[in-house]
Amino acid sequence: MAKSTRSSRAADATARLTEVRCAFCDGKGLDPFGIMSPLAECQVCEGHGSVKLAEPMVKCAFCHGTGVHPNSRMTCTVCSGVGTVEVPNNASTCKHCHGTGRTADCEDCHFPESVFPCQHCKGTGVAVDH
Ligand SMILES: [Zn+2]
Ligand SMILES: [Zn+2]
Ligand SMILES: [Zn+2]
Ligand SMILES: [Zn+2]
Repeated sequence: MAKSTRSSRAADATARLTEVRCAFCDGKGLDPFGIMSPLAECQVCEGHGSVKLAEPMVKCAFCHGTGVHPNSRMTCTVCSGVGTVEVPNNASTCKHCHGTGRTADCEDCHFPESVFPCQHCKGTGVAVDH
């Protein structure tokens, strides 16, 4: 069963899918926190240990590629727990947060004290210049 929440990119026939290790479970396929059960499948990769993403992609700046939300044991809201995020072809380091992906480092986001993704790059640390 194919999940197509990224329909706009999935529709791009030229997109090359690359298998990336699931950061949330460190490729083990098990829920790292064992909240439901120590043998519960990782919710991010559904037990596969890896997830397929389209190039280009970068390590998630917001969670430093850990897949874990900085302020909780939940999955990172930016990369959905994978630790890697798909980015636009022509994206470069976000000038607002200087590539950290966090509002705390962004002079232009409105929540400087909070642990939210930078609104300009959506937490990926890279954005398309405009
Ligand atoms: Zn996983
Ligand atoms: Zn992340
Ligand atoms: Zn940013
Ligand atoms: Zn920002």
